[in-house]
Amino acid sequence: MRIAVASFSHETCTFVPQKTTYDLLKDGIVRGNEIFNYAKSFPNYIRGYMKVAEEENVELVGVLAAGRSKALGYSGWITRDAFEKIMGEMIDGFKSLSNIDGILLALHGAMAVEGIPKPEAEIVRRIRKVVGKIPIMVTLDLHANEDHELAEVVDAVFILKTYPHVDSEEIGMIAARCMVKTIRGEFKPVMAFRKPKVVSASIFQATDRPPMKLVYDRCRYWERRGVYCASVAAGYAYADVPDIGASVFVVTDNDKELAEKAAQDISDLIWSLKEEFAKKLPKPSEGVAEVIRMVREGKRPILIAEHSDRLGDGTHVLNELIRQGAKNFVVGGIADPMALNKLKKTAKIGDHVTIKIGGWAHPISGKPVEITGILEYLGEANYTLVGPMGKGRKVHEDLVAVVNMGEGRHVIISQRLRAPMDDQGFIALGINPREKDIIVLKDRVHHRAFWDNVVALDFPIDAPGLGPADLTTLEYKNVPDDFYPIGSKWRQDKS
Ligand SMILES: [Zn+2]
Repeated sequence: MRIAVASFSHETCTFVPQKTTYDLLKDGIVRGNEIFNYAKSFPNYIRGYMKVAEEENVELVGVLAAGRSKALGYSGWITRDAFEKIMGEMIDGFKSLSNIDGILLALHGAMAVEGIPKPEAEIVRRIRKVVGKIPIMVTLDLHANEDHELAEVVDAVFILKTYPHVDSEEIGMIAARCMVKTIRGEFKPVMAFRKPKVVSASIFQATDRPPMKLVYDRCRYWERRGVYCASVAAGYAYADVPDIGASVFVVTDNDKELAEKAAQDISDLIWSLKEEFAKKLPKPSEGVAEVIRMVREGKRPILIAEHSDRLGDGTHVLNELIRQGAKNFVVGGIADPMALNKLKKTAKIGDHVTIKIGGWAHPISGKPVEITGILEYLGEANYTLVGPMGKGRKVHEDLVAVVNMGEGRHVIISQRLRAPMDDQGFIALGINPREKDIIVLKDRVHHRAFWDNVVALDFPIDAPGLGPADLTTLEYKNVPDDFYPIGSKWRQDKS
């Protein structure tokens, strides 16, 4: 048995003006069986496929993996040119294969491409044209935006159930087992699909608490009652696409009635929870004041999740920390390659420096902030992730700096959006985050897989940014009128 594997995975923030060009993606493309070498070092879907293949003595054939970008942080619309170039190469790869029994695709689901409204469905349609009627199964991120078009063209869809995403390998294994059994004729995948018309901000999608926990508990309920796999994509609100929002895919072994019943039930539950997905969060001035007050009362360390910053250069929280006289904090990263280059040219470790950082990539990021202090680190950084998110993954940063502003106030300057998923991204730079009162990270939920065990409190602050908690502040052009809360119907009802 031979199963082909490919991946084209991107979470596109269409509100970022910088487009995702082929130039940003080309260095991240991995070809042929090299994709398995890349995948084996950290948890991901493909490593899950590999585990099952080994257990079942099945040959996997690598085609191509694409989507890793060298953008500053999130990048905007994928250009048609980039999509066509990558798909052209992928399709040539599929054409060159023979004797393939099935295809496993590790996609993301929140890709947005100029001129192609539903890219994942298009990817599968193009592959289908080449390979014919063999089974094609897809694994997706929890932030996928999909609709019936994908459901119609694949044999089965499997989606993460955790945010932080710690089950990608497990979902890869569930998909691969389904594929192997299907090829052997021991399983007949039958899928039901629903679109509950609910769009939610990522910060409200953590799966260890309501409302998402209720949704996944319901998926597990159906899985105890004969469903092979019940999947929900919570959706990615920061792509202005027609298939935005939550979606439900239920796979059974040849039981259409059960699949439809479970999918409808889960979809109804998501609709009933829609207001739970649209809460308010504190803004920087009030949020930082609240954190400083709690630290004074002995609650520490507190982690501020500056969740809305999708570019990495946002200064809103740093600015408030300085303005309100906070002490003993570390800001995990302000992306500013120009400031780094200036430091590299004009300063050395131990120097007293004054430099303006951040607030350059987009007006919403805030104004540049001037910081003064001792340059404690300047150079490359190499470390290996140890937490549940990406354990074993090697991180290399070409250039990173630490400025100690005194009174325990450390600011890290990075080339790109920087949000250490565990303490190694601090320890490598000589900072012990456990000794800090306040840790600022530009992340939403993933970091909690590690940091919840370190900090006394995780405190999201809704700074201005391209990924806000309040979705009604964004201007959407492509979303359906009746999708809550961003469709025109709901916006009108509100006013
Ligand atoms: Zn995700």
